[in-house]
Amino acid sequence: MKTVNHWIDGKSVEGGSGTYGPVTDPATGAVTTRVAFASAEEVDAAVAAAKAAYATWGGSSLAARTSVLFRYRALLDAHRDELAALITAEHGKVHSDALGEVARGLEIVELACGITTQLKGELSTEVASRVDVASIRQPLGVVAGITPFNFPAMVPMWMFPLAIACGNTFVLKPSEKDPSPAIRLAELAAEAGLPDGVLNVVNGDRTAVDRLLEHPDVAAVSFVGSTPIARHIHTTASAHGKRVQALGGAKNHMLVLPDADLDAAADAAVSAAYGSAGERCMAISAVVAVGDSGDELVAKIRERAEKIKIGPGDDPASEMGPLITKAHRDKVASYVHDAAAQGAQVVLDGTGLTVAGYEDGHWIGLSLLDKVPTTADAYRDEIFGPVLCVLRVATYEEGVALINASPWGNGTAVFTRDGGAARRFQLEVEAGMVGVNVPIPVPVGYHSFGGWKHSLFGDHHIYGNDGVRFYTRGKVVTTRWPDPADGGVDLGFPSHR
Ligand code: NAD
Repeated sequence: MKTVNHWIDGKSVEGGSGTYGPVTDPATGAVTTRVAFASAEEVDAAVAAAKAAYATWGGSSLAARTSVLFRYRALLDAHRDELAALITAEHGKVHSDALGEVARGLEIVELACGITTQLKGELSTEVASRVDVASIRQPLGVVAGITPFNFPAMVPMWMFPLAIACGNTFVLKPSEKDPSPAIRLAELAAEAGLPDGVLNVVNGDRTAVDRLLEHPDVAAVSFVGSTPIARHIHTTASAHGKRVQALGGAKNHMLVLPDADLDAAADAAVSAAYGSAGERCMAISAVVAVGDSGDELVAKIRERAEKIKIGPGDDPASEMGPLITKAHRDKVASYVHDAAAQGAQVVLDGTGLTVAGYEDGHWIGLSLLDKVPTTADAYRDEIFGPVLCVLRVATYEEGVALINASPWGNGTAVFTRDGGAARRFQLEVEAGMVGVNVPIPVPVGYHSFGGWKHSLFGDHHIYGNDGVRFYTRGKVVTTRWPDPADGGVDLGFPSHR
């Protein structure tokens, strides 16, 4: 059986605690790998390596940092297929989807390659007689990242490339469910010439996370995962004096107005609800149909959903793979089983699916629930599986009020041909990312990603300009080169005149 170790100070380090967790191939249900679970002492070793590396890396030139990142970009590009295969083997998503994940992660490496323009700072000359003021941004020190299972390559790449480009060193704790891609990312960074200790990976569970949250040498924590854990990370790391951004879960709504192109809306709903088996924080899990659009829209979604091919992620014919674990599969199924009793109409029930030759895989088919009451568990909870709820409302106003009553505010979308309605929606909806006829509005790398309400705890969105601000702190330098005429004691408060 394969073993996944830690990556500390530029080399693979075996788990010293002797504790390991199982990693499963979701398509077969077989345990293929064991992953080391770090003890607090092993986390300390990784933080110590990062702290030692910071002494040099934090003061290294921008040219030195970006030349490593350009080489890293080229290596990642050459290893797209290999990384995607690693993702599929442990996450289960289909290969084309895994390639998309790698591409979106690469975008942030490319952004980091251009860090020179982001760190230029600001200069005001002659703010008073012979006085100049410069605002500069400097790195924080050691930064930690804790990431979820559903994007085992992309989400780590949302964090560490920008953090290290800004001059920080990094300790990553990836999901224990699919840890191999993160280790491969670290190996490739070393191959690109990243000095030892700048990027470290500790594997494990809560023990490792909690040590990072309280460690005195960790300056900041980036987290992406579920809402309850995001809240815990934000509260605990803040209490230990750290800067924190903690991105949480979601329930993303798609508002379909009666004038929308219903074929385009149905295509978008099926792609966004069932892609990656619904295991995306930006998945559309609730369609809100306005006026008389509902019946036709549900029929079109059903027709498309019935044609989706489900099978192992490494089979090019598969469009959707299995869920991450057997327990998660059963939990997702329970929402479908309970839906009718809670007032929904079950249009498609995918819970009975089996895949020939893969009987022990974590399979579930596509489910579609219509006329779902807002009180039903399938609507109230983040299911994180291929279950789409359709809710019916009479008016645009009712639809926006329903969306804004949700505790989450990650992504949302409006489908319409009416520019005025779309503009109104952008301004009125309470969510961090809005799509207009775009169902999954994940921002490109140079715009930041983040939700509102229970989808993000902290003040900074991730990557883009917010990412650079998060991974740096400001310093303002006021300079005077005195002239002999400037002499004399003055006890008044400096007024810059
Ligand atoms: P999770 O919260 O269970 O785990 C995330 C990370 O936290 C993992 O590294 C895990 O080991 C660690 N962790 C788990 N329990 C912990 C505990 N009690 N104490 C400390 N650390 C703990 O999330 P997941 O199941 O891996 O990922 C799915 C969730 O992530 C969904 O809710 C999804 O919406 C969310 N997500 C959000 C975004 C976003 O950008 N907002 C992106 C991807 C995923």
